Amino acid sequence: MAAGAVAAFREQYRQEHVPPSYQGRRHLLFTFGIGGATMVAAILQLEQVRPLEWLTIPLTFLYANFAEYWGHRGPMHHLKRGLELVYERHTRQHHRFFTHEHMELDSVRDLRAVLFPPILVIFFLTAFALPVGFALAWVASPNVAWLYIATSLGYFLNYEFLHMAYHLPASHPVARWPLIGRLKGLHQAHHDPRLMAHCNFNITYPIFDAVFGTLRRLHK
Ligand SMILES: [Zn+2]
Ligand SMILES: [Zn+2]
Repeated sequence: MAAGAVAAFREQYRQEHVPPSYQGRRHLLFTFGIGGATMVAAILQLEQVRPLEWLTIPLTFLYANFAEYWGHRGPMHHLKRGLELVYERHTRQHHRFFTHEHMELDSVRDLRAVLFPPILVIFFLTAFALPVGFALAWVASPNVAWLYIATSLGYFLNYEFLHMAYHLPASHPVARWPLIGRLKGLHQAHHDPRLMAHCNFNITYPIFDAVFGTLRRLHK
């Protein structure tokens, strides 16, 4: 259980931002059910993929890792016009709900403070993934477009899964996987209010933190 200022903020957040009808398990099911089904549907569209077209997977992965880094280092931690909601949800809510000393959620309802809201998932899909997919189908090939959509969705689901795992109770079986433990240490250092605007902006794999020199181990 969280204590002090974090506990007080959690109570306030639950009252103001978590409607009584909210169900954490339904939120999880929506994210991984719809996201996973769309990813499989995209994979099923592939036809006789040529060797060069497979390159879409590592390139999309790197692009997503870069976008994760810059989105988090930029608007999620710095107030930018037009993107105030992103700053509000991340710096003012997520980082007050969880600090490096209080990383664990208290119940499944607290997933509200961890997972992307369904409406934002649909917005990002239609506003960003689909137009790029159509453009790729036009300039490259339909296979490249479907591989891009499937890889982006896979990346997003991996992001949601890992971030949720970092905020699970330490006794949870998933939280005890060795890879989760190591990555969680980086995210936990990022949750230190003194460090949050300076290091560990990758939430999944710290590739661009290493590139830009912002990688930092757990602060003790
Ligand atoms: Zn977090
Ligand atoms: Zn952050």
